[in-house]
Amino acid sequence: MPNEPSPLLLVTVPCRTDNYAFLLHNSETGQTALFDAPDAGPVAAELDRRGWTLTDIALTHHHGDHVEGVASLRAASGAQVIGAKADSHRLPPLDLAVSDGDSFTLCGTQARVIAVPGHTLGHIAYHVPAAHAAFAGDTLMAMGCGRLFEGTAEQMWDSLCKLRALPPETLICSGHEYTQSNGRFALSVEPGNADLAARIQRVADQRERGEATIPSLLADELRTNPFLRADVASFQAAVGLSGEPAAAVFAHVRKLKDHF
Ligand code: ZN
Ligand code: FE
Repeated sequence: MPNEPSPLLLVTVPCRTDNYAFLLHNSETGQTALFDAPDAGPVAAELDRRGWTLTDIALTHHHGDHVEGVASLRAASGAQVIGAKADSHRLPPLDLAVSDGDSFTLCGTQARVIAVPGHTLGHIAYHVPAAHAAFAGDTLMAMGCGRLFEGTAEQMWDSLCKLRALPPETLICSGHEYTQSNGRFALSVEPGNADLAARIQRVADQRERGEATIPSLLADELRTNPFLRADVASFQAAVGLSGEPAAAVFAHVRKLKDHF
């Protein structure tokens, strides 16, 4: 069987100062989905430039820097808005309210909802297997993870473990360009990690060229993201917590990051 070229195209759209939105376009169906709407301007400009019409807006969580563009983009396109049922009281009005484990058709392909509480309690991620992509918002970030504004460390660790279990070739589409500062922290807790040192150099080169470091590859996160490594023996040894429960190690590292 010849390998069919995928009709799905993923585009990263820089917004505000350090936010990212993502467009997923299906060239067979003509549909275009937006993941998070930090502001309308850059997204509308990208749609315009490519001649795409927005059909869906999928939201990861309620924070302003992820939803502020919704009203204007919806008004311009009539796109349906998708978000967490649990947070429907504090998200923009939803056309489709989804919960953990739900599967639905988005952009002509299957999307699955993963509840990832921690940064906020209603935070969700979307896994789109055909695009080899997961839209993780402010949960799993490049060499980092979101701050615990609402959930506990244990909840966030469980959420990260769900994302960690996705195929390693998954592109992690996260909400912010925090990669370089995340890398500095990661190296401070695990200075002997050669993969990490190499990635930090790669990221520095990308930033020098003005490129986004997002999306990142889950396989790279597994080797270098301190928040995915709380149960890895060499990492536990590096932070002096060998044999401790993973959630406790995660909590310790998250606290270190808060004061870094
Ligand atoms: Zn947020
Ligand atoms: Fe954010």
